[in-house]
Amino acid sequence: MPLTRRAALSAALASLSVVPGTGLAQPREGGVALRNARIFADGRFTEPSTLLISDGRVRAVAAGLSGLPEGVRGIDMAGHYIVPGMTSAHVHVGHAVGLESGPQFYTRDTVEAQLQRYAAFGVTQVAALGMGPPLFHALREESRAGRLRGATLRGAGPGLGVTDGAPPAGPMRLADNQVLRPRDEAEVRSAVDRLAAAGIDQVKIWIEDANGQLPMMSPEIVRAAVQAAHRHNLPVVAHVHDLSHARLAVSSGVDILGHGIRDEPVDEALVAAMRQAGTRYIPTIQIDEAEYLYTDRPELADDAVFQAATTPAFRSRMADSGWRETQSRKGEQHRDAVRMNQRNLLTLHRAGVPVALGTDSGATPLRVQGFAEHRELALMVEAGLSPADVLRIATEGSAALLGDTDRGVLRPGARADFAVLAADPLENIANIGRIAAVWQDGREVAGRLS
Ligand SMILES: [Zn+2]
Repeated sequence: MPLTRRAALSAALASLSVVPGTGLAQPREGGVALRNARIFADGRFTEPSTLLISDGRVRAVAAGLSGLPEGVRGIDMAGHYIVPGMTSAHVHVGHAVGLESGPQFYTRDTVEAQLQRYAAFGVTQVAALGMGPPLFHALREESRAGRLRGATLRGAGPGLGVTDGAPPAGPMRLADNQVLRPRDEAEVRSAVDRLAAAGIDQVKIWIEDANGQLPMMSPEIVRAAVQAAHRHNLPVVAHVHDLSHARLAVSSGVDILGHGIRDEPVDEALVAAMRQAGTRYIPTIQIDEAEYLYTDRPELADDAVFQAATTPAFRSRMADSGWRETQSRKGEQHRDAVRMNQRNLLTLHRAGVPVALGTDSGATPLRVQGFAEHRELALMVEAGLSPADVLRIATEGSAALLGDTDRGVLRPGARADFAVLAADPLENIANIGRIAAVWQDGREVAGRLS
C-alpha cells in the first residue's frame, strides 16, 4: 500500500509540467511534503496525512504515507492542523494606522505592511471594499503579479458613494479621490467604465442614510450601478445597515451585501429574494463588537496574538479612563447591533444564503486587521454556526465570493496557501490564533503568531 501511494505521489510530481502555474511561485526542483498533519477538507480534518506541494500548488493529500518520492523535502507536522488560507471579503487598507486614520496612510509601504499582517493571521487574500485612491489599481496589479508581499489584494478601488452622504468624508477622513460620488446615471456609467478599465474586482456602493441624517443613494443610481457593473461582468457589493437598505439592494440586483442587517430581523420575503437571486452575505459582526470589546476586556492588552496586531499606543489607550468612559457610553447600541446581526446571520445561513468572512477591518483604528478576522469567526460561532461551517465560510466560501475555485481549499491543483495551527479550531474556534506558520504560494511567509 505505501508503495502504491508513493507511486501516486511520484506521478503527481511528474505531472507538474502539465499543471498550469500562476507565475507567482518560483519554479524549483522537487517539492515539500508536510507530514503527519490533519488537513481541513470538506468540513472536517483528515487523519494525519501528507500535504505535498510544489511550484506553489497543492499536488496531493495522502494518508498513511511511509516514504516520500525522491527530491521531496519532508517536514514533520505531527500534532498540527492545516487550514486553507482565509479570504476576508470586506476590509480596507492604507487608511487606519495605530490610533489614526486618513489619506496620508495610503502608501505602498503601509499597504504592503498591512497585507503582511493579514497573512500572518492566516488571511491570505483580502478584498478592499472602497476608499481606495488611484494607487489601489497599481497595488492590485503588483499583488496579482506577486510583486507585493502579504495577502493578495483584490477589491473595488474607490467605490461609488453619495454627494454629501455616505461614506461621510469628514468623519471617515477621506480625500476627494478616495470615493467617486456620481450625480446621475450617466456619471455612474462613466465611473464604472473607468474603474473597470483601471482594474477592480467589484463595484462598491453605499446604501446608507444613517437614520435619516444622510441623503440616501437613489434607487435609480443603485440600478444604474448594477447595470453598468454587470455589463463588465463585475459584481456589485453594497454597504447596508438596515433592513430597508438591504431590500433596496436585493430588489435592484446587488450581488453582495457587504454588511449584516442590524436594525430588524430579516423577513421571509427578503430571505426568499436573496435565495432566488443567489445574493451573498458578509455579516461584519465585529465592527460593532470593536466598539466595546477593548473596554470589556482590558486583559487583551497582555495577549500575544492581540499584541501582534496592535501598537503599544493602542494598548495603552485601553487603560485610559477617559477613553473607556466615552466608549462605554456608546456600548449598548453596539451590543444590540451585534445580537441582531448574529440572529440574522443564523437565519440566512440556515436558509442557504451563501455567507462570507468580512470585517471592515482597517476602516477605523478600532477595526484591527487580522485580529478582527479571528474575532469574526468566534462571533459567527457564537451566533449558532458550527465551527466547521465557519471555517468553510472563511476559506472556500469567501474565495468563491471573489470567483476563485483554487483558493480556500487544499486539493490537487489549488494554491498552496494555508495556516498551520498548533491546536484544533473545531474544538475551540479561538485556536485559529494558535498559528505555528503561514504558507503562501508554497512558501513559508510567517511563523508563530504568539
Ligand atoms: Zn467597509
